[in-house]
Amino acid sequence: MSRRTKFVLVTGGVVSSIGKGLASASIGALMEARGLTVTHMKLDPYINVDPGTMSPYQHGEVYVTDDGAETDLDLGHYERYTSARLTKKANVTTGRIYEAVISKERRGEYLGATVQVIPHITDEIKARIYEGTVGADIAIVEVGGTVGDIESLPFLEALRQLKIENSVEDVVSVHVTLVPHIATAGELKTKPTQHSVREMRQIGIQPDILICRCDRPIASGLKEKISLFSNVRAECVISAVDVKCIYELPLVLHAEGLDTEIASRLNIWSRQPELAEWKRIVERFKNPEGTVTIGIIGKYVHLKDCYKSLHEALVHGGLEQGVGIDFEYIDAEDLEGADSVSAVQKALGGLDAVLVPGGFGDRGVEGKINAIRFAREQSIPYFGICLGMQLAVIEYARNVCGIRKASSEEFSDGSSQHVIHLMPDQHDVTDKGGTMRLGAYPCKLNEDSRAATIYGSADISERHRHRFELNNEYREQLSEAGLIQSGTSPDDHLVEIVEVPDHPHFIGCQFHPEFKSRPLAPHPLFSAFVQAAVVQRATKSEAINTDPPEVPGGEAPSPAAN
Ligand code: GLN
Repeated sequence: MSRRTKFVLVTGGVVSSIGKGLASASIGALMEARGLTVTHMKLDPYINVDPGTMSPYQHGEVYVTDDGAETDLDLGHYERYTSARLTKKANVTTGRIYEAVISKERRGEYLGATVQVIPHITDEIKARIYEGTVGADIAIVEVGGTVGDIESLPFLEALRQLKIENSVEDVVSVHVTLVPHIATAGELKTKPTQHSVREMRQIGIQPDILICRCDRPIASGLKEKISLFSNVRAECVISAVDVKCIYELPLVLHAEGLDTEIASRLNIWSRQPELAEWKRIVERFKNPEGTVTIGIIGKYVHLKDCYKSLHEALVHGGLEQGVGIDFEYIDAEDLEGADSVSAVQKALGGLDAVLVPGGFGDRGVEGKINAIRFAREQSIPYFGICLGMQLAVIEYARNVCGIRKASSEEFSDGSSQHVIHLMPDQHDVTDKGGTMRLGAYPCKLNEDSRAATIYGSADISERHRHRFELNNEYREQLSEAGLIQSGTSPDDHLVEIVEVPDHPHFIGCQFHPEFKSRPLAPHPLFSAFVQAAVVQRATKSEAINTDPPEVPGGEAPSPAAN
């Protein structure tokens, strides 16, 4: 029989974007480092059934699990910090809860009852929490939003009930708040935290532990003040000082005693956490042997959260290669129009590598194609992910195969030369939510390919999120012209990876490898891409060092001229 799961309930107060997701993920990392099995859940109070149809501007990245759930980006943090492999069950929204309750009501399952928020909605929330966390020693359950929001009330009420119906040793409540430094007063202020805890207590939840986000350590006197006003023991007031490297957070929280407090509250006998690996990567992050500049040509360049997993996967590649990454987010629309050639040269000329990430719709597409062409022709390492792979195929078809109007069925440019198109099974899809090719699919690699060398294996599995595919009618023409299809579905029906062997590094993949990269296990495609960028940088600086000195007028300097 499996042991009973113990719960760490994580809520947030004062402001959003306070780092609750990273705090939850770090708790997961610390408890796992103590030898316990952990799982995570995220409860999102919005009414969408899942974030799949939300704009990245609204929501940031949509993270995809192996079983094809489109989820909140915090699940990405949880999977990066722990070895938990999350499923559909790990992300619950208000929409999902109401959808279930209403369909039960229609089926007559509540016959006779007036269906209400308490107990029906809260029961459904609790049932999802119990079902989604079964089997783990510790489940870290995070509620999205900020205490005080109307939307989050049913979730917080469900947590209150969960706390009451389990033994005190089985549930610990962690509240994440902000302790701002007010420059004019020259001090840290605890009032927002006091108010936030008061808000929690009004709902009926007394936090056991406070994680106080701050830009400098909170002195013990101030911790005592917070303790006094919020009814939380002083040793349970934890400062979470801003970190340069997010993977340092587990170490910072451990140094503050967080995991010891959680373990003692939950009455868990476990070893001290084994944190050598985390220390090693933080060391590597802080002491890189040089840097490389990687350009990301996208549409959502002003909101970094849209490319969260991608950003982290590149950082992981840098950790493996021992270099830091300078990110250059470039707006694809700036690379379009009449002076695109000089715009591309200006924006991309100094880069060590170019990446086009996933995306949807027409906007910025021609700019991305211009960037891909530049990278291909100038032998700059290129990595295309999902849309970035599809556009690499379009660029190759247009400029190498001579298929002048090559395009994707996704774009409304009037072209009928669809080298990227919808497979028949997608033609009949009318609902937008949850109907793409989603989740893990196996892929077999051509053994002579660069992809196979990079993976060190011919059989892989990667996560997908797209509707369109490479059109098989063009496969032969593309490969004859030098764009080989090095990875396909095992039945050879779908192209999953393309590459140009005759280029320092030109790879496109139809899936999203960034979802499977971990700081402690960087994804091979990202590691290889960063390595190619390192080589590119070294080649460039060698060329600069060995170039003959520039001579005005083209004449050799004459010693006599001095
Ligand atoms: N828009 C493309 C498709 O649906 C690519 C999607 C993506 O990049 N995730 O196939």
